[in-house]
Amino acid sequence: MEQGNQLVTAAKCGKAFVASYTGKRTKSISILDKIFESMLELDELKDTFTFLSTDYIESASDSDSGSAYKKTISKIDAILESHQSFLNQTAVDLDLGYIPKIECTNKGKGTGPKAFKITAIKALTTGITAADKIPSGYIRYTIEEEAKPTLLGKLVDGFSTEGYRLHILVTAVITSLLIGFILFVGGYILLTKTKNILDFLQLGLSLTTLLFGLYSITAPIYKCITLRIVECPTLLSPLSSASAQLLYTPMDVKRKSGRRNRQFKVVVHTAICPVCQSRIDVYEGKNQFRGRMIGLCEENPREHVFSFDYMTRLGKALP
Ligand SMILES: [Zn+2]
Repeated sequence: MEQGNQLVTAAKCGKAFVASYTGKRTKSISILDKIFESMLELDELKDTFTFLSTDYIESASDSDSGSAYKKTISKIDAILESHQSFLNQTAVDLDLGYIPKIECTNKGKGTGPKAFKITAIKALTTGITAADKIPSGYIRYTIEEEAKPTLLGKLVDGFSTEGYRLHILVTAVITSLLIGFILFVGGYILLTKTKNILDFLQLGLSLTTLLFGLYSITAPIYKCITLRIVECPTLLSPLSSASAQLLYTPMDVKRKSGRRNRQFKVVVHTAICPVCQSRIDVYEGKNQFRGRMIGLCEENPREHVFSFDYMTRLGKALP
């Protein structure tokens, strides 16, 4: 364990995280880099580090009108939070006990610059295999980014108590949507009593599209409740990554019954291919790997194929 000021440790962790980040080098990542750097340049760090959203404007690119910067920096707290797993892993690898947390201290107050504070929080290290402890022949997956799913997150959040309540909720939503839609279409057909073949085809096409749309969102949710992890439908993903996974995962809070509450999470798992050093993304397995989630190498998805366990975050080459 690294000795000294907790915030210094946290800033070091932040800087190392930015340096090893495997996702897109977005503007927010480069702003984070500048923030951690300026923290480490100080002679002395207290328990908190504060800054204004206007402090790091020079680190945004020259072509930037400023509005993109404003948008990015206003979400800097949320961005760090969605990368907490990655920060925790960095802390484990470098034996640093703390990770940085950014909070906005004048949320929703006026139109002036936002004020932020950075504090150190204890790194959550359970379940993370350190880089030098990965068993030989295995690869380690990193949680690159995570978030609550859009739409569904808001819908299900208050209901993520017991499994059966969620089943009822999801069933009710789907059923009412379907019944409503069938009534609407039925009414429409009766009203127009169309004999025109083109109108009929058009109606049929829109019906199919809508039903397919509904199915493509609701089917993965159903599957996810029992299988715990599925490929995340694009419509539910707030993250920009090409491949994300929808997880139905236990929360820290325990109910009186001893069972844990569960919640949906959208997570991007990634690893480095040990054969060609390219990026590995996680997908639903096909053909002989049907029913499993597997890691596929970006450059050779046919041959560089790996198993994937979201609990151990480890995998090994599949024949
Ligand atoms: Zn590869």
